[in-house]
Amino acid sequence: MCYAIPGKVIDINNKIVTVEYFGEQKKAINEIDDLKVGDYIYAQGGYVIKNIPEAEAQSILTTWKETFFELQELDLRLSRLDLEKKGIDKKLALILDRAAEDLPLKEADLLHLLNLEDDKQIELLFKVANFLRQKHLGNSCCVHGIIEFSNYCSQGCLYCGISNHNKALPRYRMTKKEIIETAYEAIEKDGFKALVLQSGEDPEYSIDDLSDIVKEIKKRSAVLIFISFGEVGLDGLKKLYQAGARGLLMRFETSNKALYDKLHPGKTLENRLQHLEEAFKMGYLIITGGLIGLPGQAKTDILNDILLTKRLNTEMYTFGPFLPHPHTPLAKVKPPAVKDVLKTLAVARIAGGKDAKIVVTTGFETLYAGAREEGLIAGANSVMLNVTPKKYSENYSIYPGRAHAGEGIQEQIDTTLKVLRDLGRAPTDLGITHD
Ligand code: SAH
Repeated sequence: MCYAIPGKVIDINNKIVTVEYFGEQKKAINEIDDLKVGDYIYAQGGYVIKNIPEAEAQSILTTWKETFFELQELDLRLSRLDLEKKGIDKKLALILDRAAEDLPLKEADLLHLLNLEDDKQIELLFKVANFLRQKHLGNSCCVHGIIEFSNYCSQGCLYCGISNHNKALPRYRMTKKEIIETAYEAIEKDGFKALVLQSGEDPEYSIDDLSDIVKEIKKRSAVLIFISFGEVGLDGLKKLYQAGARGLLMRFETSNKALYDKLHPGKTLENRLQHLEEAFKMGYLIITGGLIGLPGQAKTDILNDILLTKRLNTEMYTFGPFLPHPHTPLAKVKPPAVKDVLKTLAVARIAGGKDAKIVVTTGFETLYAGAREEGLIAGANSVMLNVTPKKYSENYSIYPGRAHAGEGIQEQIDTTLKVLRDLGRAPTDLGITHD
């Protein structure tokens, strides 16, 4: 099982290497000391993570080659832009034309897109977003794994089912050894090349404990590690980077300060944003975004969330629906409409960084069974699979009824690969640096 295609190093310029994949060249950051031109490597999120023997690379490339071009062709066909504008108002046609040509749009125009209600018009928005996804990122689709190692949380975020509001939830905490073993299996057996380690804000693990875990995982296997432990402080971020973490997954949740304050007792948006900004400066890849459908949230807030995500130099956008949890203060609030989530993904694709990845979240799949297929043709190009041991994952109950909860990893991999194949997407991460 393989989630990345080997590439051949054709140039090395200090830390930046140029890598060739089936005739296409990409840049990646290298941290392997003895890498040479001519070597074959795996890259993830713009980092070279592993040097692989030529014979192994050639054999993988041979099996991939035909499929790779077939998938590419199918994707190209499905994402062709053939705007049927008959009966579409002139204003929308103009906005979508500009978007398709990569011309900047005014905030009022982006808001117009988020406010669309007519199904036919919304369909055109999705087509343009899908066209732009294909144009800038081709058919590659990131498939990262996530390990949720503790559901203890000292925080009281009003929407969150693992927050300290939920007195009914059985709590679990994986041992260091279990976390390291789980990561090892996910990488070596299931083929994941990028893993997110996530937990509630659990003071039981010190920064040194977390650093040891990251170090040990990286010592045993080649992998890109994203951390998602909440607000560990800037010093904590620094130590975890030194330990080998190269990505930070941390949603700012909402860019509306008043709403943020209401939903996060004792926390500030400022502190959360400082983590994200400083982490980027330290060299972390950033995965961030917000919740869609929070009580009191307006469409202008969603637009501001998208624009803020872009300003934060985000590698991967993560926007998912708020889903009410019965054991939280927001139990009675309704979730958002499916089309509002899809419109957010599409506008993120249009307004966001051109090379940004956009993930279809498990939250969205929980809200709507067709989320993955429809999200991937409305601008998204990434998915995350849950590799937490089954006995724990059912209690990582940030919201109820999580999609794929009862599925084993292999089942998740199989269904994901089928969805991707049907859409002409390749489960790869060909590595694109920030510039
Ligand atoms: N402690 C980490 C991880 C938090 S849980 C941190 O602070 O970043 C991961 C994500 O779950 C949160 O960022 C939040 O956006 C999402 N989440 C929590 N409750 C949710 C709910 N009821 N519906 C949808 N998403 C939720």
